[in-house]
Amino acid sequence: MRRRLLCGNWKMHLDRAEAVSLARAVRDAVVFPADLDNLSCVLFPPYPYLEAVRTVVDGSPLKLGAQNLHEADRGAHTGEVSASMLVDVGCEMVIVGHSERRHGLGESDALVAAKVNRALEAGLTPVVCVGETGAERDAGQTWVVLERQVGALVPLDTRCIVAYEPVWAIGTGRVATPQEAETVHLFIREQLGCGAASVPILYGGSLNSDNASALFAQPNVDGGLVGGASLKADVFARMLVQLQKC
Ligand code: PEP
Repeated sequence: MRRRLLCGNWKMHLDRAEAVSLARAVRDAVVFPADLDNLSCVLFPPYPYLEAVRTVVDGSPLKLGAQNLHEADRGAHTGEVSASMLVDVGCEMVIVGHSERRHGLGESDALVAAKVNRALEAGLTPVVCVGETGAERDAGQTWVVLERQVGALVPLDTRCIVAYEPVWAIGTGRVATPQEAETVHLFIREQLGCGAASVPILYGGSLNSDNASALFAQPNVDGGLVGGASLKADVFARMLVQLQKC
């Protein structure tokens, strides 16, 4: 059975005290089954709060991740953070290629692939985001875009996690239907090719505790990458229970 994950992307929200308090609330609210092997719950706070959140999640089943990394491991890259630095502060995972970086900061498919490789070399598990914009969807380009974004990752190292995040669904309140998500996840799995059966594919985009169960029930939806709703400990904890039940 494939691994399932619930990931909370806190983006550039919260101050230090709020980050610590949210991490504590999530830690105290989440209920993990005895058999943990197959299920992970990961928090992705902003860089400056990684260490503070690590002290809260240490010794709990929660894992820590970062929202980005640089493709080089050291050097003159002012303002950047390397994979080994993230490992050093206790991260196990890292988000790569989020649409807010692809589209907001011009990250290319090649750069995303380089970051994925760097993360793996350092022992981090990359959560690689792919997804079409609303304009691309309206122009009937969804499959072409996904083919290109996923193609840049092939051959995919099976330690990776993929997140399908339709850009039109991120922070908009518009969610892919369970059937739409399942169709796209299956397509992504086919594009990934050999070994892809074991790669978790998460859904992200306006996911919350009202719509998560139906999405998590799809055979190729292996969990969620959650933005806004991950800032509410009770909602996030409820979603973890929903994921466990599917
Ligand atoms: C995200 O940014 O990864 C995301 C899915 O955001 P939201 O859940 O707020 O749509």
